[in-house]
Amino acid sequence: MNKLFLFDVEGTTTDINFVHKVLFPYSKERMATFVKENALQSEVAPIISDIKKTVYEEEKRELTTLDEVCAVLDSWIKNDRKHGALKALQGFIWDKGYKSGDFKGHVYEDVKPFFEKLKYLGFDIGIYSSGSVHAQKLIFGYSTAGDLTPLISYYFDTKVGAKREAASYLNILHEVKRDANEVTFFSDIPQELSAAKEAGIHPVHLVRPGTAVSDFFGIKDFSEFKI
Ligand SMILES: [Mg+2]
Repeated sequence: MNKLFLFDVEGTTTDINFVHKVLFPYSKERMATFVKENALQSEVAPIISDIKKTVYEEEKRELTTLDEVCAVLDSWIKNDRKHGALKALQGFIWDKGYKSGDFKGHVYEDVKPFFEKLKYLGFDIGIYSSGSVHAQKLIFGYSTAGDLTPLISYYFDTKVGAKREAASYLNILHEVKRDANEVTFFSDIPQELSAAKEAGIHPVHLVRPGTAVSDFFGIKDFSEFKI
């Protein structure tokens, strides 16, 4: 089987500021309007039910108006809560933003040449990020380097498990039908690299500007990586 190169996104292929300074403020500003305009849409209605269910389970409180739903979403955004309903709504809003050209998905300049080199050599590329698969496809589909999705074979989010747990990487190996020694994982977070290593995957630390070095083998950008 050919090798698989697996990439984290934030801090690895993409400036961490893109998510925090572009994506999150964009969806925060538009959340209430989006919910109110689309509450009855078939894709959105179940998400709102899910929010009501969570609040009832946790606080025994019934949300009866969309204003109340929006207030809950606002507090989840402030607390950076990783709730599936919030992520799904953000995904819809970002979708519109990318497609209307309000912004592009940031990727570092060394990403596209590296992806192209890997594909040229016959290797496979996968993404593993805590952002949803949908959000990943948008970043790479509408990126500052153009549409990179034709180069990417696999997308994984936290449905396979958390990024700091070895079991998640074992799940990925199972899905891509490869042995651990055929897979390399690039990330800026040492705890994620430890989890990948525990699963037998080869870890590489991306030490972008602002990232502290670690005991893991590290590179400043992908041009430094010798295949
Ligand atoms: Mg990261």
